[in-house]
Amino acid sequence: MRHPLVMGNWKLNGSRHMVHELIAALRNEVSTVAGCEVAIAPPAIYLDMAKHELAGSRIALGAQDTGTNVSGAFTGETSVEMLKDVGTKYVIIGHSERRTYHKESDEFIAEKFAVIKEAGLVPVLCIGETEAENAAGKTEEVCARQLDAVLKTMGAQVFKDTVIAYEPVWAIGTGKSATPAQAQAVHKFIRDHIAKHNAEAAASVIIQYGGSVNASNAAELFTQPDIDGALVGGASLKADAFAVIVKAA
Ligand code: PEP
Repeated sequence: MRHPLVMGNWKLNGSRHMVHELIAALRNEVSTVAGCEVAIAPPAIYLDMAKHELAGSRIALGAQDTGTNVSGAFTGETSVEMLKDVGTKYVIIGHSERRTYHKESDEFIAEKFAVIKEAGLVPVLCIGETEAENAAGKTEEVCARQLDAVLKTMGAQVFKDTVIAYEPVWAIGTGKSATPAQAQAVHKFIRDHIAKHNAEAAASVIIQYGGSVNASNAAELFTQPDIDGALVGGASLKADAFAVIVKAA
């Protein structure tokens, strides 16, 4: 069911000490906030520890990525069953850093979407255009192509009760967020694109905005009708800033 979701993407940051301290602070800061689901996505090696530190709290656990194989000779990989085993609910896929640095294709990301759904976990599909694509007026074309990779293989109903994060690449980690109006226009495009194929899925899909969301700009972004919370990078590493974003949602 569609609801606001604020998720912290810790990226490649953390230590056992930091996991303990940050989760303790978050439990304090966000435990009484109602009306918005909260999740954190620490590095894979700390998921199990984070799950224990989160015990009894209302904060859900997310992973930053997954492999597509179940088990076997795939050195260095993590499977969705392993993520499930340690209590993960959400799995981020298609983040621009993985598309760029690991050359992940739309098709490979669609494969990940399928294995996550099959395991009963919730995919958080990141999509979004680069600065050059934005300047060339290709934002909708790029978002449609990234969505269509999933739509073509699985059909639009697969988006029911899943999460899409619209993250313009030019806004990630740059301090240059999309304006509420810019983000709303793309979020509406995404929802309408899915609705053309399946209205029920479009109504239920959570569409987060991501890209330099912070304590100062979150509230205005969340006034927009198609923005259902945020995927937060840098600001999720500071409990007080993250709490302001959660409260704004
Ligand atoms: C992200 O990496 O998902 C992200 C949105 O990062 P930041 O908030 O730092 O721009």
